[in-house]
Amino acid sequence: MRKKIIAGNWKMNKTVSEAQNLADAIKRDLDSEAKVDVVLCPPFTAISAVSQAVSGTQIAVGAQNMHFEASGAYTGEISAEMLREQYCRYVILGHSERRQYFGETDESVNQKTKAALAAGLKPIVCVGETLEEREADKYQDVIRTQINGGLAGLSEADFKNLVVAYEPVWAIGTGKTASPEQAQEVHAFIRSLLVELSSQAIADTVRIQYGGSMKPANAAELLSKPDIDGGLIGGAALDAPSFIGIVKAAIEA
Ligand code: PEP
Repeated sequence: MRKKIIAGNWKMNKTVSEAQNLADAIKRDLDSEAKVDVVLCPPFTAISAVSQAVSGTQIAVGAQNMHFEASGAYTGEISAEMLREQYCRYVILGHSERRQYFGETDESVNQKTKAALAAGLKPIVCVGETLEEREADKYQDVIRTQINGGLAGLSEADFKNLVVAYEPVWAIGTGKTASPEQAQEVHAFIRSLLVELSSQAIADTVRIQYGGSMKPANAAELLSKPDIDGGLIGGAALDAPSFIGIVKAAIEA
């Protein structure tokens, strides 16, 4: 049985005080819930405040990106060690917005994934096809390339600390959700790719989140599918009742 994992990607939203308020509101309702892993991923500037707000609870903190080098002349970048120092336990890598706007490639995702794992962070590696790729029936090829490239060279131990997020680009922030059947089909496909890269036993331990307009109203059905092990939530993670509603759906799934 894989423990479900719900992560909120706050993107470039929330000042420190706003982030603190949101973390406090989520904490009030979820403090004692350990049945599901809950991760909050604020912008870099609010990581420290959110870590303090949730300290002593089951809620974990994650970042939305990092650099693969440990230190050096990389203006504007943040290393895994810097995230660890702020009590981050997870880091989102290869989000489609990073790929689309900031030149993230499968190669850089792979470098970052290895660096995150080496530093003791759990990477949430995002993959997903565009609408054009889905309509051309190329989504499996796209996802195979992203998984094989992004996860190349990982050890068995690495896979045990890995989370994969399937986020069809056409469903992110659009209000369009993949149907539970469409999502399940891709999640099972991703797991079969993980088997090729590791083994059935290891692949069975890797949690695969769905992301793309997940909300309380559609979470339960998505999370009831056998290979959907959680959610990576954008818009609905910015509102405490919505995020809590999704976590509660995961607890009951
Ligand atoms: C995301 O960007 O990771 C995401 C899933 O966004 P939304 O929930 O807003 O579609």
